[in-house]
Amino acid sequence: MSMMRFHGPAGQEDMPYLLTPGPLTTSRTVKLAMLADWGSRDVEFRKLVKEIRQELLQIAGCDDTYECVLMQGSGTFAIEAALGAFCPDKRKKTLVVANGAYGERAAQILTRINRPHERISKNDTTQLSAEHIIPTLQEDKNISHVWLIHCETTSGIVNPIGDLSRAAKSRGCIFMVDAMSSFGALDINMVRDGIDVLVSSSNKCIEGIPGFAYVLVRKNLLLLSQGHSHSVVLDLYDQWIGLEASGQFRFTPPTHALVAFRQALRELDEEGGTAARRKRYARNAEALVKGLAEIGIKPLLSDNASGPIIQTFLTPRDSHFKFDLFYEKLRQRGFAIYPGKLTQRDSFRIGTIGHLDEAVMLRAVAAIKDVLQEMNVKDFMPRDL
Ligand SMILES: *Cc1c(COP(=O)(O)O)cnc(C)c1O
Repeated sequence: MSMMRFHGPAGQEDMPYLLTPGPLTTSRTVKLAMLADWGSRDVEFRKLVKEIRQELLQIAGCDDTYECVLMQGSGTFAIEAALGAFCPDKRKKTLVVANGAYGERAAQILTRINRPHERISKNDTTQLSAEHIIPTLQEDKNISHVWLIHCETTSGIVNPIGDLSRAAKSRGCIFMVDAMSSFGALDINMVRDGIDVLVSSSNKCIEGIPGFAYVLVRKNLLLLSQGHSHSVVLDLYDQWIGLEASGQFRFTPPTHALVAFRQALRELDEEGGTAARRKRYARNAEALVKGLAEIGIKPLLSDNASGPIIQTFLTPRDSHFKFDLFYEKLRQRGFAIYPGKLTQRDSFRIGTIGHLDEAVMLRAVAAIKDVLQEMNVKDFMPRDL
């Protein structure tokens, strides 16, 4: 770490804030909750697991026709588990609607596990809508499932789930959502929005640490999925049976991540729930976008498409701008941004979720201005305009 002085998160002031969409900056109290070893079979721990499952269903607006299954691993583990549990393996098929890397990855998983699917790929600045899927659903009567990414974290674009859900449901399709980077902040109600399957993980908007993910699903689908999984460890049905029968995971659970997560859930509640969290993230995003607009750095997406999770900015055309140097200099000033650039247009991304507020974002803006000055970047117009 650099010699330069900065002020990182409480209790780890010499480490940078993580301006990344997971892992992200967590509160000190979430980290402190992990200072104990829990026995995975103990009654207290099983109670905690039960509490987490119930709380997640409540946050998602579920009634008692839904179930919550926790799965060890990162978010993609639960995505593969859900695709393996619910997507048909013959006769019928799944439609993957993609506008970024996470949509493409879901299609990749379906290919690997031999599940027939169609894919609609839009570019990452196109917000998806019902019109994008209706013709395919009308033409191809074998499509029985639709998979959508709510907030495509590649760019931060938010797709309108209600709109797409209605289109899918009106044609009798099962509607499945990767709400990894949106659940806990954006407005989601599985009953109202007609979502049959939703996947998210511990280390995104609930602000826990990495270690597990979860699938919220209609109980009847879960029951029908018995024996359908392509995998033993990722078998969602078997995992659910284990959780229901004994309150335990089938295999070693990420005990510390679960204890931290329960604390994170309490803090979400204290903050005022998902609506309050959404507002804080929106203030973070606004502070960042406005701050960078002052020096002429433009966001990739329009206001109504971008959402509060991660912001993508067009790279300045000034030849002095080098992303790797920019990244490292920012890190030395206490801010780790999202590395790499994935969108078609040359851009960089900064996460606006995690245990941080507007004041932190304003300091990040000041650090960015300072770094750009030090790099001698003067022309902030986008490269390819
Ligand atoms: C974070 C994320 C995932 C899961 O990524 P992991 O690295 O497996 O945790 C999946 N989809 C979206 C939209 C995400 O933001």
